[in-house]
Amino acid sequence: MPQFRATALARFRIDRTVSMVDHVIVGAGIIGICSALALRRAGLDVLLLDRGAPGAETSHGNTGVLVESPWRIPGGRELLRRLPRILLGRDRAVRIAPGHWPAAAALLVRMMRDPDHDATRAVALHRLLRTSLTLHRTWIAEAEATNILRETGWLKLFRTSKVAAGFALDLELLRRSGTVHRFLDAGDLRALEPALAPGCAGGLLLENACSLSSPRTLSERYMAHFLRLGGRFAQTAVTGIAPDGAGWRILHSDGCVSAGSVVVAAGPWSADLLAPLGFRLPMFFERGYHLHLSPGPGPSLRRPVHDIAGGYVMTPQSAGVRVTSGVEIAARDAPPQEAQIRRAVQAARALAALGPPVEDRAWMGSRPSLPDGLPAIGPLPGRPGIWLNVGHHHVGLSLAAGSGDLLARRMAGTAAADEASPFEPGRLWPDAPRPASAEETTDVRPL
Ligand SMILES: Cc1cc2nc3c(=O)[nH]c(=O)nc-3n(C[C@H](O)[C@H](O)[C@H](O)COP(=O)(O)OP(=O)(O)OC[C@H]3O[C@@H](n4cnc5c(N)ncnc54)[C@H](O)[C@@H]3O)c2cc1C
Repeated sequence: MPQFRATALARFRIDRTVSMVDHVIVGAGIIGICSALALRRAGLDVLLLDRGAPGAETSHGNTGVLVESPWRIPGGRELLRRLPRILLGRDRAVRIAPGHWPAAAALLVRMMRDPDHDATRAVALHRLLRTSLTLHRTWIAEAEATNILRETGWLKLFRTSKVAAGFALDLELLRRSGTVHRFLDAGDLRALEPALAPGCAGGLLLENACSLSSPRTLSERYMAHFLRLGGRFAQTAVTGIAPDGAGWRILHSDGCVSAGSVVVAAGPWSADLLAPLGFRLPMFFERGYHLHLSPGPGPSLRRPVHDIAGGYVMTPQSAGVRVTSGVEIAARDAPPQEAQIRRAVQAARALAALGPPVEDRAWMGSRPSLPDGLPAIGPLPGRPGIWLNVGHHHVGLSLAAGSGDLLARRMAGTAAADEASPFEPGRLWPDAPRPASAEETTDVRPL
């Protein structure tokens, strides 16, 4: 069971007695909460289920940046060039856990063979990100959460001109997608972010990006708004999904509930729910860590800063300066390895005056990723009434409002084909599965 703040949970109405509802959503991370909010805004009857407190898992520990910039997964020749550094454990942004190499190798081969990785799909993702950012700004105002939103942009830092040159592919994508950005020379950088040590070559400011002083608080405010609108929440662990007449029966640790439709939005645990239904979700885990540091002497950091050479981000948050690590490819439940975040903290200290750590141990979470770099938003093939909203990898916080809205419009049958098709879950299972039978249900076990 996850750790959660009992006080936060007490703020939500818990209703384990519901036995029938139109729509059930499994998972109250930012994706499930935004899906619930979008459905409730459309006037639908929604019950949200989570085994812990809303927003307490991956959606709690992230960097808190809301972006419109497309996320680019390196593929082809670029990945090949970086591979020796990754293999030798010298790549700052990506680490592969020892023991996880056989699983990672299959993934890397797939990515290297995929020339399309960084183009067409990134553009589709960008379109959803842009819609999502606009929706977030509206929903944040409605949920009375503007005090945690900072319109400061997101700074990509080039320590040297060589780092800036290495950013060419990302820059090309930013230009192609129309992402608003501004170049900064060393002087601009000092004026914009006086907390940074002198000597950096420059940077790039993504101007239409904002950040949160507490990502967990955003989940909680959206959740409170969902409840104000008449939505319901129950804290219980879902153990299975079974056919139930024309609908579905959702089995949970306190009983079961019948629903016309069920949305799986369980982030990194989504595969556990789908496996008993005969679907192997090809999800992999890009684990990440964070550690808070107290602010040091001198000017405070004003915005999230991505130190590209260091492969980490530091951002001011209510708990302190949050340093978040790059990617660790590992099994979801393998024990944490703090070397990567400790190295990131060391690099951050060289760039900004930072005080002692706020906590002894780093937080760890798993970015839920799919091999083609796009989330799956839509119906589970061959199982009418089961819907997915999963696989939002590095940009789930940013994508949440847009993904929830797209899912709600897909469920209502009003989404345009061209906006829905890049995220179609059916792409993950080209050979359509056989229909469900009552026997092949329940018993959710970690894969
Ligand atoms: C270090 C790091 C930095 C990041 N930075 C950013 C960023 O700056 N901007 C950005 O946009 N994204 C960022 N991300 C990505 C983002 O955090 C994720 O994509 C997003 O939080 C995923 O949300 P989710 O709702 O899918 O998953 P989660 O937040 O993990 O929610 C899943 C929920 O499902 C529940 N659940 C699971 N199984 C069951 C069950 N059987 N029964 C009941 N409940 C269940 C869990 O308890 C959990 O609450 C970052 C991620 C990491 C790790």
